Amino acid sequence: MSGEDHSQKKVMFDGEAASSLVKELRVSFSSGKTRSYEWRISQVKALLKMVDEQQDQIIDALRSDLAKPPLETVVYEIGMFKNSCEVTLKELKQWMAPEKAKTSVTTFPSSAEIVPEPLGVVLVISAWNYPFLLSLDPVVGAIAAGNAVVLKPSEIAPASSSLLANLLGRYMDNSSVRVVEGAVDETTALLQQKWDKIFYTGNGKVGRIVMAAAAKHLTPVVLELGGKSPTVVDSNVNLEVTARRIISGKWCCNNGQACISPDYVITTKDFAPKLVDALKKELESFFGKNPIESNDLSRIVSSNHFARLIKMLDDDKVSGKIVYGGEKDESKLRIAPTIVLDAPQDSLIMSEEIFGPLLPIITVNKLEESFDVINAGTKPLAAYLFTNDNKFKEQFVKNVSAGGLLINDTVLHLVVHTLPFGGVGDSGMGAYHGKFSFDAFTHRKAVLYRGFTGDASIRYPPYTDTKQKLMKALVAGDVTGVVRALFGWS
Ligand code: NAD
Repeated sequence: MSGEDHSQKKVMFDGEAASSLVKELRVSFSSGKTRSYEWRISQVKALLKMVDEQQDQIIDALRSDLAKPPLETVVYEIGMFKNSCEVTLKELKQWMAPEKAKTSVTTFPSSAEIVPEPLGVVLVISAWNYPFLLSLDPVVGAIAAGNAVVLKPSEIAPASSSLLANLLGRYMDNSSVRVVEGAVDETTALLQQKWDKIFYTGNGKVGRIVMAAAAKHLTPVVLELGGKSPTVVDSNVNLEVTARRIISGKWCCNNGQACISPDYVITTKDFAPKLVDALKKELESFFGKNPIESNDLSRIVSSNHFARLIKMLDDDKVSGKIVYGGEKDESKLRIAPTIVLDAPQDSLIMSEEIFGPLLPIITVNKLEESFDVINAGTKPLAAYLFTNDNKFKEQFVKNVSAGGLLINDTVLHLVVHTLPFGGVGDSGMGAYHGKFSFDAFTHRKAVLYRGFTGDASIRYPPYTDTKQKLMKALVAGDVTGVVRALFGWS
């Protein structure tokens, strides 16, 4: 901990305040302090200490914002974040080391290296559904790469936002790591400033606003967006395990309010009834006969999101197609796990990202048709396949473009820090996790070293015939031509 205590400050945050904040952080960055290995390590250790000491407060904040079950908080918010810190502490020295590069004959004699350097002052804007992980994970990358960073948590999870502001104010070096709380106005004020990178997590509509603002300053962006992540289920699977793993990725991840939750399932017409039965059986064993009362399911984050989801269920196009669930309690913002069979493609539930506890199942005659269904939409953040058929796995990997693919499970690719996590097309750009987080906030600077020997006159004017012939032969890789030019043979 150092510097002024910013934990209790709540002031109006406008363009002027944003501008002076960036100036302040630029002074700190220019001093060089954030570049040192020691500073980076000390800040990552401070974050680790913070989550270790404040675990109960974090669990409480998430209970208040989302009724998130403590076990989910411990695994997906705290556990995953601690893992990021630990990987960074272990590998940072290696990530920071310059990388030798091969040189070309043209520059002989020479040597070359790629030097990772921090970008400067960066902005992280995060979303409400995993408010700690989605805020702190990019911050670890920014710090590890030696940047000064401002975090703007989501106002939709107010208890988490306020706790983040308080804790980062207390535990971090506030000359270089700051939190700005707020909603659209505050974010707009931040976006008007010149940053060296903006890392945004959230929906694509705001992603476009962020990118347009960044374009004004030629600021690069990482956009971690969402989409409709499909789950294709073959008939040759272990049905019980498949059902459990779909439920785990859908309802045990914030009750479907997760960017890589299965959005919809595709299976064959023949197999669909068996899959529905297996899902019903496992859902009941996990959440009981009255899931709306279950403490093992998060609630819907806000009344706006509740209304958005109910609109999908009230859509005439899905009338009579709900085969499980559908119960709701507006006063508690609760919606039971709900399965909808064969919703038409133009229904609301099939045309928008669901981001909640509703699971449509689409049926096809042959599983290969699933590629057409998936490819008719925008590129999703994740795509899942359950099958025992190796050939079909290969086809799936070849034919489906998504941020990430996972075969025979859901969501777990997220925890593998050696895999980049990010979208493609409408699901985003750029990636993070593990070394990819460091890279997201790093410029790889190319450096070529030469001495004063071997200063061949051929590169300098006057461009004589001999020089021209020699150069042509060299460029063509024509050894005989080189010899001819050198000896003046025609
Ligand atoms: P949100 O409402 O919390 O918004 C995200 C951020 O954008 C917030 O900090 C908010 O203050 C800011 N914001 C909102 N409107 C703005 C505006 N007009 N101008 C500037 N800033 C604005 O979160 P959300 O968008 O509801 O999040 C859900 C979406 O995010 C889903 O699409 C989901 O798939 C996606 N998501 C993606 C990931 C990922 O890692 N790829 C993770 C979580 C969520």
